[in-house]
Formats: sequence, structure tokens, C-alpha cells
Amino acid sequence: MFYNSTRNSDVKVKSAEAITQGISSEGGLFVPESIPELSLADIKAIGEMSYADRAAFVFSKFLTDFTDAEIHYCTDNAYSTKNFESESITEIAHLFDGTYMLELWHGPTCAFKDMALQILPYFLTTSAKKINLDKKIVILVATSGDTGKAALEGFKDVEGTSILVFYPEDGVSPMQKRQMKTQEGSNVGVCALKGNFDDCQNGVKTIFTDDEVKQTLENNGMMFSSANSINWGRLVPQIVYYISAYAELAKDGEIELGDKVNIVVPTGNFGNILAAYYAKHMGVPVNKLICASNINNVLTDFINTGVYDRNRKFFATVSPSMDILISSNLERLLYLMTDRNDAVIREWFGKLAAEGRYEVSDDVKAKLSDEFCAGFCDDKQTKEIIHEIYEKYSYTCDTHTAVAVKVYEDYKKSTGDTTKTIIASTASPYKFSAAVLEAIEGGKSDIDEYAMIDRIAELSDIPVPAALADLKNKPERFSDVIDKTEQKKYVLSKLGV
Ligand SMILES: *Cc1c(COP(=O)(O)O)cnc(C)c1O
Repeated sequence: MFYNSTRNSDVKVKSAEAITQGISSEGGLFVPESIPELSLADIKAIGEMSYADRAAFVFSKFLTDFTDAEIHYCTDNAYSTKNFESESITEIAHLFDGTYMLELWHGPTCAFKDMALQILPYFLTTSAKKINLDKKIVILVATSGDTGKAALEGFKDVEGTSILVFYPEDGVSPMQKRQMKTQEGSNVGVCALKGNFDDCQNGVKTIFTDDEVKQTLENNGMMFSSANSINWGRLVPQIVYYISAYAELAKDGEIELGDKVNIVVPTGNFGNILAAYYAKHMGVPVNKLICASNINNVLTDFINTGVYDRNRKFFATVSPSMDILISSNLERLLYLMTDRNDAVIREWFGKLAAEGRYEVSDDVKAKLSDEFCAGFCDDKQTKEIIHEIYEKYSYTCDTHTAVAVKVYEDYKKSTGDTTKTIIASTASPYKFSAAVLEAIEGGKSDIDEYAMIDRIAELSDIPVPAALADLKNKPERFSDVIDKTEQKKYVLSKLGV
């Protein structure tokens, strides 16, 4: 299996190169040259495997330059009860008849990004070895909250790597901030930026593709790689859990093998839902992919009209990990939907960079509405649905997951569709305790974040995750705050080059 770039189809690299490079040199994203197919018999067999083996099975189709031993080294280290509080790595909760919550947050940082970021360091160091790179891998991360902590946990003290994380100073929850500021590890750095997530991400992208910076690193035996969801090594682990969930439901007799399901995903950068799209095109029977956004609803408008327009007000919401106006992974979807037309992708994403807006062709519009539905809700509706789910089903869900539930309920009402449905549950409710508690109890409380955790523990039957319980006693290690114009200088000085 080779990988092409969305902005130059002539680029052709193996997965080890795609993963170590992170992003193609002309700014495109790596995409496998074809989508491997799974039969229903394969899916049935997957249902009998452990999660680590399910993952290894899927990776063997995409990372064909890895040996079986290398793949198992990665999956066995990442997907074990060392790192996850669930024997089965993910859990499926039954919300109401035919609606399943795929809980992806039983990892060390209590958000779904652990599913990919626990394995990415193993993919990266294994890939680097395979292509005889003896450079130190420098990971730069822009985070809207969850990626940063998950990447820090994944990479901390991994030999041959160092990691630097930027987050928007006022754009993450107090708990997320505390998780990052107290990060342990000898190869980690954390810095707040005066700006929003897009400022962080644009800065990181610019530094990443800056020839002068690249040369400086090269001269010092270092190279950049990316832990953001632009890296194929982030995306491929996410495909696994959709296949796994479908296989599990079939095994449990909740669905018949071959039945279609809907998949609802609370979306920001479009990574998680793109993984569901891949799972569908590999052979998981899917009816609709439902894209749920908060009030930063650029994707809702895009899927409904074919016009992507980021020229709009940016809102800070109670689901901060979805406060995004540029959804990087959409580029991969559009590359596939234009039958891998790199020229068109260059044109559209050139327009996005220059004018903040592009409109796709009628053909792509038709494909979008065939495969996707999209909706959004605001903070008030998010809290209302948390309250409703808690009262009706005794289930406590976080703010991001709540957006997905609300959009799904709206979808069901407007379409009458009764297809069984998997909703991606992307974070533990404890991680966004202030908003969750306010929603459940119907008013703001003035207790601190730790008392809130205790309060949620009283109200819900979900145990407090160990990683959050420990947080209170950890010392803060990182307090830098910089202007976005200083980002490049900061990176070079932190690397000591
Ligand atoms: C990152 C994140 C999302 C959005 O996922 P994308 O892959 O960026 O679309 C949703 N919910 C939570 C809790 C997240 O951390």
C-alpha cells in the first residue's frame, strides 16, 4: 500500500514515510492509494478478537510495510489495561432501544484522542527505525484541549522524541488546562497562546513547512513530525473502533451481520468522522454518517450547501474541542470525492487560505448529501439534552457527546429514520464537569473543579477516572503564555537551536 498526497497525486510513499513526515512537503495530506475491503466474514471474525488484535487486523491492510511483529508490538503496547481502564478498551452503552453510545474515553486522558495517541508514538518510532532515521523526532501540537494532553501522555519519556504543545489561553476548560500544566515527563513542553485554536494550528502548520526552520532542525539532528489528526498514524487507529463496534453489536445479536447502521460523530477537525467514512468504504454497512457540530457550524453549512466559508464569528462554547473553523481532514474526504483530483484540491484549499471560502462542484455536493447528514446545536440545547438524558436514561454524558445526541434526535424527528445508530461518545463527563453539572442540576454552582468531580460521582454511576482523581495533588510545571507572533522563536529556543 502506497500513500499519495492530496495536493500531488504523484507523491508515492510507504506508510512508514507518511507517518514520520506527518504532512507532505507541498502541504497536502497523505491518503492511502486505495481503500482495503473487508468482507462480512472478516467483520464476523473481528468480533471474536481482542481489541488489540482487531486493531492489528485493520493495520495489516494499511501498513503493509510493517511486519506482523512490528504491528503487534504497537498494538499490544498501546491497547492494554496498562493504559485503559476498560478490559475491552472501548465500551458500548445502550442509551435507548437501538441507540448505542460508543464510549471512546476509557484511556489515560479520558477523551477519545487516546485511542490514536496511545499508539502513534509506537507507530512513529517503529516507522523511523524502518527507514533508518537516526534523527530526534520533534512533535509540535496545536490543541483545542484534548489532543494536547493525549499527545503529551502518549509521548512522555518516549526515547528519541520530544513534544511541544500549544493551546489557546482562553479556549480550553480549567480541567484541560490543569491536565496540561501538570504534565510529567522529561521531553515535554506546554505553552499557552494568546489567540484561538485556529491561530495555534495555523502557527504550527507555518512552522512545520518553514524551510529555514526545517534546515535548522536538520543541522541539529532533528526533524518535525505531527501528532495532529493530519497525520495518517492518527487517523488509521480511529477506523478500528467503528469496525470493532459494528462487529461487537453483531456478535451480541443487537444487529444482524449486514444490517446498516447510522454513525453519529461530534465533529471539529473532521478526523473522527472521516475514520467512520473509511470504515464504511472498507465494508461496514452504514446508512448515514451524521456530522454533529456546535454553534461553530461551518461543517453543517458545508454539508448542506457545498460552500465552505470560514468568514464567520468564532464562538467559545461548552464543547471546546469542537470550536474549530478550519477542519483539516475535510481535505482528505474531498480528495476521495473528486476521484483523487489533486488540481481541484489545490484550487479549493488555495481559495480557503486566500479568501477563507470555496465551493465544491455539483458532483461532490451530490456525494456529500448522499453519504452525510449534518446538524448543530448551541450551548443551551447542549445542556438541555444532558439534563434530559440524565433524567430519562440515567446516563451522564459530556458536552461533546451531548451535541451528537441532540443532532441525532433532530435527525430522527425530521427523517423518521429508525435505523439502529452508533453515537461516538468522545469524552468522559468528568472532563467537562462544570457544564455537565450545571446541566444536570439546572444552575451554576460555585464549587471548585475537584468538588465538581465529587459531585458528579454522587450523581452518576460512572466511577471517577484515576487520572482525574490524582490531578489535585500534582504540581504545575508549565506557565508560559506567548503572543502568536512569537511562536516560531519560542519553538527554536525551546529546542535549544
Ligand atoms: C477532538 C474532539 C472532538 C472532535 O473530533 P475531530 O476528530 O476533531 O472531529 C470531539 N469531542 C471531543 C471530546 C474531542 O476531544
